[in-house]
Amino acid sequence: MMGMFCRRCRSLMPPNSKRCMACGAPINPNDISNQSSLDGIGPKKKPVEFIAEENKDAPYLPYKPRGCQMDIISDIRNALDEGRHIIIESGTGTGKTIVSLAAGLEHARKTGKKIVYLTRTISQSDQVMRELKAISRIKQVSGLTVTGRNKSCSLFRGTQDYESLSPKVLSMMCEDKRSKSIRGAAGGCRYYDRIKTEIDNVLNYLLNNFPTSDELDRYCERIGVCPYEMKKQLMKKVDVVAVPYVHILSSDIRTTLLANLGLEDSPESILLIVDEAHNLVDAARDQESFVINRDMVDNAIDECSTMKGNPTVWMEVELKDFLGYFKNSIRNVATEKLGLNEKEVVLTDDYIEKRMMIKFGMKSQDLDAAIEKVMDYGEARTELLMERGENRVSEIQSLGVAMRDWCSSASDRFVR
Ligand code: SF4
Ligand SMILES: [Zn+2]
Repeated sequence: MMGMFCRRCRSLMPPNSKRCMACGAPINPNDISNQSSLDGIGPKKKPVEFIAEENKDAPYLPYKPRGCQMDIISDIRNALDEGRHIIIESGTGTGKTIVSLAAGLEHARKTGKKIVYLTRTISQSDQVMRELKAISRIKQVSGLTVTGRNKSCSLFRGTQDYESLSPKVLSMMCEDKRSKSIRGAAGGCRYYDRIKTEIDNVLNYLLNNFPTSDELDRYCERIGVCPYEMKKQLMKKVDVVAVPYVHILSSDIRTTLLANLGLEDSPESILLIVDEAHNLVDAARDQESFVINRDMVDNAIDECSTMKGNPTVWMEVELKDFLGYFKNSIRNVATEKLGLNEKEVVLTDDYIEKRMMIKFGMKSQDLDAAIEKVMDYGEARTELLMERGENRVSEIQSLGVAMRDWCSSASDRFVR
């Protein structure tokens, strides 16, 4: 395919552009910049050849350059040096992973930045490790693939319901085990206990073998340490960390990632490479979307009846009445807002919130406080369930969180 790049600012142009969308420079179709033209590297995969000695113009490229790989590397270099973003479009098998790593590492080494490589699939993360291994023939580099706890908890894997545990529940179960381990109390996690003694061992294995995600998990299991917690410790020690999209898209997970990298106060020290970035919009939408359905509300209301006393959420308003009226308000959306034969409607006002506030005589901050209270009750319930070994999140908590999200979704970032 042919890429059209602005001669002045080298931004990528949509086909047939008359002017650069970034800097406004006129574009003459006969005058396409060959700076980054991707013409000439087709999808056919030629075997790669390793180089015999360092390529002065691309010190981190371990192969003989193909097609316009050198052009792309120099484009990335220029963009990074000038503090710009860069988008690269290139066919399958043209070596996107290796050129982005080669150019990225050069910049990261110069500036002390850490590379976070966002991928959609684990196999793409594994590809990052393979390319790093190739680079390690000529330069000292290191990398690590990170996956969720759900894929690598040695302690709970194999227990009943492990596959269906939500990440949140697993995280709470793990936290409980870890805190016991840290305190030296009984009932901790033996895989966590061994991290300190095995960290050098695993780091060595990592630096010498560039294992795929699975291989690293297996290795950790063999020596009896928790792969997930081990990776958290190792993140700071490597040049490149390959993680799934969600590690940047979800604000909670992103905060944890930055903390694990030791960069919570300087996210600008990250050089972010997004693989297959055209998926990012869909992934972000999925990440931010949520649903409240009748079952959730009914289950939460049922759970109220198992609670002692009549807990209140605001003034004299009882929890079960509050949730009951929430359900009533949702149902009212259907009767009042949906036309005949209509299955969906876009809410343009705060219909549900307003209805709740009128019913209970609340101001908007009172409603927020009441929902906060719902979440508190739910959290206490969840702890109780965990203590009883039921390994699930309270329905009241799930609904409370969803209600909070609903109230904060009244903005043009959301369609309700
Ligand atoms: S420390 Fe690791 S093995 Fe232990 S419970 Fe947590 S995730 Fe599971
Ligand atoms: Zn331009």
